[in-house]
Amino acid sequence: MPTMLAKNADILVTMDGERRELRDAGLFIRDGVIEQVGPTAELPGSADRVLDLRGQIVLPGFVNCHHHLDQTLTRNIPAGQNTNLFPWLRAHYRLWAARTPASARTATIVGLAELALTGCTTAFDHAYVFQNGCRVDDQIAAAAEIGSRFVVSRGSMSLGESKGGLPPDDCVEDEDVILKDSQRAIEQYHDPNPGSMLQIALAPCSPFSVTADLMRESARLARQYGVGLHTHLCETLDEERFTLQTHGLRPVAYMETLDWVAPDVWYAHAVHVNDDELRLFAEKGAGVSHCPSSNMRLASGIAPVKKYLEAGVRTGLGVDGSASNDSSGLLAEARMALLLARLKIGLLPPEGPETVLSTSDPLRAGEWLTARAALEMATLGGAAVLRRTDIGSLEPGKCADFFTLDLNTVGYAGGLGDPVAATLFCAPQTARYTVINGRCVVEDGRIATVEMEPIIEEHNRHAADLLRDAVAV
Ligand SMILES: [Zn+2]
Repeated sequence: MPTMLAKNADILVTMDGERRELRDAGLFIRDGVIEQVGPTAELPGSADRVLDLRGQIVLPGFVNCHHHLDQTLTRNIPAGQNTNLFPWLRAHYRLWAARTPASARTATIVGLAELALTGCTTAFDHAYVFQNGCRVDDQIAAAAEIGSRFVVSRGSMSLGESKGGLPPDDCVEDEDVILKDSQRAIEQYHDPNPGSMLQIALAPCSPFSVTADLMRESARLARQYGVGLHTHLCETLDEERFTLQTHGLRPVAYMETLDWVAPDVWYAHAVHVNDDELRLFAEKGAGVSHCPSSNMRLASGIAPVKKYLEAGVRTGLGVDGSASNDSSGLLAEARMALLLARLKIGLLPPEGPETVLSTSDPLRAGEWLTARAALEMATLGGAAVLRRTDIGSLEPGKCADFFTLDLNTVGYAGGLGDPVAATLFCAPQTARYTVINGRCVVEDGRIATVEMEPIIEEHNRHAADLLRDAVAV
């Protein structure tokens, strides 16, 4: 059983029950599991692999709760640069449907590489477009190549334009096919055990791209196997108008009729949620993936994150995209969460709080999201959203998932009075090491498990092909 000693870190953020931050500390790891956390002097003196982390901060691996790795093929396309969600989706659906298994591979590796370089060790991919011979198996194989801890959805779209949905008919699938393949993916791949490197979720895309029947049937199937359920919800006011017009209900009320407000469910975005709906999430145990960059990029709105945290709603972070971000940078996303929560308290009602008190008034001190709370959302929060107790903190018995940042950089210079908060207040830096399951996926700031240059080259070729073909059509 291989061992690893990570020692001499200037500071190590545990996110344990006491939220300890240890000085001159490290970890001892055996077979992908943390055996000891503590001051370097108290750790074993040697191991099969030794990382000297002098001058670095160690953080628990970040958990990404919402992403579409395929979209790294369609970042920043001109037709989608200056629109909100619905026209943005219309500009992209056919591009995503035209991808191939080969381009799905490079997209997955590129996205997971960027995630790993920005501290992410567990990523959820909301895959939902399966055309042109693509299967969820493509993403699964690529995630194993790079070595990320992976949760992936056999997601779906079934409500085409001719039936009142948003996606074109040639981008949606037959519901029988979806459910059959969902069951296959679960049976073939889902590992529910502690330390699992691969789990499956079911994720019908959104209220405007699947039928009520498919939502119900997906929930029935997921609950039969104990896998998670995920969808986009309350992302935009256009979505709210859609469910009001189609079902006579606000999105959350519509979800309730489908038995989709429950502890095994988490939603992406949850921006346009009122206080009653927010309490319902807390009461029923539904979780939220906050995606601040995407919400800003598409002018969707600002999610009430601070209220979620106060109400006890499981809340994690997602980079979303990455055609609506257009990045897979999770450290930057945590910083965006910090900044956007602050913007929200400075706005006037109805977006902001209903008070005329200055934002500096002591009575409003509790409204401020702190850097440590944002880091907690990126780690323990994400783990809770994915219903994982084996990740999110650095403690004996937990998965050996962590990343380090060099403190002696231009970016942090002058800000090291509080190095933990500097990781979010100062500009996001690239991870020096990212260790997943006891294995270095990032080493000295570079991906160590696959050779990235040829993959980036191939990926750019696939992306150019997609755009060229789209123009030709
Ligand atoms: Zn999304």
